[in-house]
Amino acid sequence: MLLNDQIALVTGGSRGIGKGIVLALAREGAKVAFVYHSNTDAATALEQEVAAAGGVAKGIQADVADPKAADAVVQTVLAEHGRLDILVNNAGVIRDTLFLKMSAADWDTVIGTNLNGTFAFCKAVSQQMAFKQRSGRIVNVSSVAAEFVNKGQANYAASKGAVNSFTRVLAAELGARNVLVNAVAPGFITTDMTAVVRGKAQAVGMDLEKQIPVKRLGTPEDIAAVVVFLCSPAAAYVTGQVITVDGGLSLGAVSG
Ligand code: NAP
Repeated sequence: MLLNDQIALVTGGSRGIGKGIVLALAREGAKVAFVYHSNTDAATALEQEVAAAGGVAKGIQADVADPKAADAVVQTVLAEHGRLDILVNNAGVIRDTLFLKMSAADWDTVIGTNLNGTFAFCKAVSQQMAFKQRSGRIVNVSSVAAEFVNKGQANYAASKGAVNSFTRVLAAELGARNVLVNAVAPGFITTDMTAVVRGKAQAVGMDLEKQIPVKRLGTPEDIAAVVVFLCSPAAAYVTGQVITVDGGLSLGAVSG
């Protein structure tokens, strides 16, 4: 196993991409703590699924947008395991609407969760990884929406663009302390977050797969595989990168 006995923390780990990441890290031998927001049933079901497969995963309820949450969660993990090797900042939300209709609350919720949450969790693990352990891996889940324009996502694109910039600076600052920081930018992944868009496309007979060179939507497993790589010994010389995992969607190829 690639990550035997490593201690990992995944935010937004109870559903969707985060769930895929929890399952993949646990399958590689990591002991995983994951943060969820409100869906306790999904969190409990995931704990049981991992345990049934012989792994360890434990859900912690918290709101990553709450500035006090990160320290409390990280202290809980450290109290139980004494160290923290991997942080995956995956929790994220959308509040899509055209800018002229976008409220300050739509902006604050998305920036607060996607960007400020990422900052807070990186900050909360930084002393432990950079000074006490002098080792660590951080993976931030970004989006192709940071670079490729979707109308109605001014808040979301701003949050993910900032996550990419933040990732690069953090990588430069923490590299000498053996803490590697990267981001993964998913394309169109089949999760609850994209259910509305997929439903609308279906309703008007639009074939989303056609816009993607590999002719399928992505799965949480597609993203989790790259996260595992970035946390593994094979990625020991990779830092400050934003790795796009989108089946070629962002190439912008004309469908044919
Ligand atoms: P999802 O299916 O909506 O799942 C979101 C997860 O995050 C859930 O576990 C949820 O917990 C948790 N969460 C949401 N807000 C939270 C908060 N304030 N505090 C703590 N946990 C919170 O989303 P997803 O599609 O898997 O997306 C995961 C990440 O990938 C996000 O950062 C998203 O921006 C990014 N991404 C997704 C896609 C895509 O196509 N799906 C594409 C590019 C990037 P509860 O279940 O308890 O609510």
